[in-house]
Amino acid sequence: MENLKIKIAYRNTPVELPPNLGFGLIFTDHVFEMDYAPEKGWHNASIKPLKDLALHPATMFIHYGQVVFEGLKAFKTISGEVVIFRPEKHIKRLNNSSKRICIPQVDVPFVLNALRELVAIDKDWIPINKYEALYIRPFIIGSDPFLGVKPSTNYKLIIILSPVGAYYPEGFKPVKILVQDDYVRAVRKGLGECKTPANYAASLLAAEEAKKRGYTQVLWLDGIEQKYIEEVGTMNIFIRFKNEVVTPKLNGSILPGVTRDSVIQILKDWGVNITERFISLDEIISEYKKGNLLEVFGTGTAAIISSVGTLGYKDLEMKLNPVEAGELALKLFNELTSIHSGQNKDIHNWLTYVENKPVEII
Ligand SMILES: *Cc1c(COP(=O)(O)O)cnc(C)c1O
Repeated sequence: MENLKIKIAYRNTPVELPPNLGFGLIFTDHVFEMDYAPEKGWHNASIKPLKDLALHPATMFIHYGQVVFEGLKAFKTISGEVVIFRPEKHIKRLNNSSKRICIPQVDVPFVLNALRELVAIDKDWIPINKYEALYIRPFIIGSDPFLGVKPSTNYKLIIILSPVGAYYPEGFKPVKILVQDDYVRAVRKGLGECKTPANYAASLLAAEEAKKRGYTQVLWLDGIEQKYIEEVGTMNIFIRFKNEVVTPKLNGSILPGVTRDSVIQILKDWGVNITERFISLDEIISEYKKGNLLEVFGTGTAAIISSVGTLGYKDLEMKLNPVEAGELALKLFNELTSIHSGQNKDIHNWLTYVENKPVEII
């Protein structure tokens, strides 16, 4: 692969972050872009000032959804170093998502290196307050201007960066989740395990209806039997029963979360009995009635851990810990955020360090 070209944006004042960052509202000065053409492969890799995309209205991805994306985070540690959490695993997952929808594979070390350069260039945008981060959004789009259903021949990979605030500005509070069986998000052998926009389009109406009923998010059941729990909103789900912590086994329709993987590892490190298996809604309800359902929580890059205080299904309201976050959820949240901030030892080498060297401009 050719060199990475870098063009630095002009800026005459230092970066100043607003006090309330929110989520996904603010973007940094630079983007990474790379093009794919059948005869050249991936080429034209560059970091350049952020600007709007100029697209032909027939650009294929707009019409037929040939897009994959990722979401990961960079942090400033307490000693001022810049780290990215498990970037290689995210880029590999991008490739896995791509396979299912006929997007060409990227070279993982090349993209990882480009990502480190991009984060290094925009490092002044990384917030330093606790629980804040630089959210990283890589995505690939089918870029041919053509109307007709087939894979695009040309593609564009773009990485944008957005400084984000704590997902829970008012603290780590439990959320209300509604079990949904009127709609399905994904089915086995469909697109559920890919991070591709179709899955989010499929989830919008259910989430809006849940919000109207006073719930924050939806707990999805499997798309075939509507019997087994799969995911909560855009997070993976964990259940703490009296003697066992469980999470749904990956079955093709569940997104294999990096946070899910990290939480499973941490629980194993702690000697907790964690099992990946099928979990039916019936089991959850009957364990709740027996008093054995202790905690439910979601895991994902954006919120990290989200404690579920109330689980609703039709007329049943299962009250778990409606006021305070669950004990294990809080412990995991503290563990992961302490790894991000460099307070805890990174025993599994989940942090990739971004060098603080001045960038070489080609
Ligand atoms: C991104 C995502 C997750 C969480 O994955 P992480 O790698 O932990 O961020 C879970 N479910 C869905 C549907 C997602 O899109």
